[in-house]
Amino acid sequence: MQDLAEIIREHKLAVPVYVTQPVMPKLEGYVEHLAGIWERKWLTNDGPLHQEFERRLSEYVDADHVSVFCNATIALMVALETLRIDSGEVITTPFTFPATSHVLYWNRVRPVFCDIDPVTMNLDPSKIERLISPETKAILPVHVYGRPCDVETIQRIAEIHGLHVIYDAAHAFAVRHKGKSILAYGDISVLSFHATKLFTTIEGGALISRTDVQRKRVNFLKNFGIADEETVVGPGINGKMNEFQAAFGLMQLQLVDGEIHNRREIALIYREALRHVAGITVLEELPDTESNYAYFPILIETEDFGMSRDDLFVVMRHCNVFARKYFYPLISHASCYSALPSAAAVKLPVAERVATQVICLPIYGSLEHETARTICRLIAACAARRDRHAALAGTLC
Ligand SMILES: *Cc1c(COP(=O)(O)O)cnc(C)c1O
Repeated sequence: MQDLAEIIREHKLAVPVYVTQPVMPKLEGYVEHLAGIWERKWLTNDGPLHQEFERRLSEYVDADHVSVFCNATIALMVALETLRIDSGEVITTPFTFPATSHVLYWNRVRPVFCDIDPVTMNLDPSKIERLISPETKAILPVHVYGRPCDVETIQRIAEIHGLHVIYDAAHAFAVRHKGKSILAYGDISVLSFHATKLFTTIEGGALISRTDVQRKRVNFLKNFGIADEETVVGPGINGKMNEFQAAFGLMQLQLVDGEIHNRREIALIYREALRHVAGITVLEELPDTESNYAYFPILIETEDFGMSRDDLFVVMRHCNVFARKYFYPLISHASCYSALPSAAAVKLPVAERVATQVICLPIYGSLEHETARTICRLIAACAARRDRHAALAGTLC
């Protein structure tokens, strides 16, 4: 049986590889934008670059009512305020980044955690209705890893019970479902442009609403509720994106198709090499979906793989592979939520299991194919230890 130390020696990368890396626009082009900003001395507050970025973004994501933001968290808070959701309960997923639940907390809304579906990894629609109470105001699902939720069933449930649907689409830039932008579903969707996301404006985000009236309200709310110099129409916040971020975003729009193409090649390498490794589940792409390859999650079945997810994680770190356990621990385990009845582990069996099995492998456009292959060989070598071990045990009986 190959010794772990030997496996680590054999597969150690010369330089650390992180789970993601942003695609950087040409510095000269960005400097040109800076020169324009210097000339105009218009740094923020709906400047010309902000306006152009919002327009081009709207074309790219194929959505009419786009408002860009300083980040997705503030955009989600504004989404709730736009729909006047400021009390009661909202049904959401525990298998997500903390911000999804935190925005509810900040809007004085109690999160009600619903288990996830083992195929999509998103809210399980068959478990939503039993959680609906007279206090329920909305459903807040996440298209986790950019994998579309069961949007049709969620819509049906929302209509029957008179609930709003807000999608946390932080991972879902450029994703299409049944020939339509994924942003076409629900009352509001929110994208994140954080530096770790597929498409970035360093920090940033966008809110996609449905009507001109709604968009107008969103734009008031993201600017302190100011309608004109002497009128404040509501308790707004500061959610504005500045000119420097908008310039970065304009340049990213030129690069994102290439980035998705390059990530797809990495995904194909992983998929092909890991498909037959014992104890590894590669998530299949969902039907009728144009993916964005923002993440590459795999699941580790300890028994079959011969090593736990956490042990593989440590071995990878020793090899300079900085994979991430997205999303472990579940946000329902955080002390601010763990006392809620819906946060009990017994009520979230799929989310609890997946959170202990999942690991997201490095994926970004400039990742060397050879590096991706080395990562696959490392994982296969860890699994092979288990086979040898089993064979050895067999001989001994
Ligand atoms: C990144 C992320 C957010 C927060 O986005 P910011 O732009 O950093 O505020 C919210 N939800 C999910 C699912 C995310 O991954």
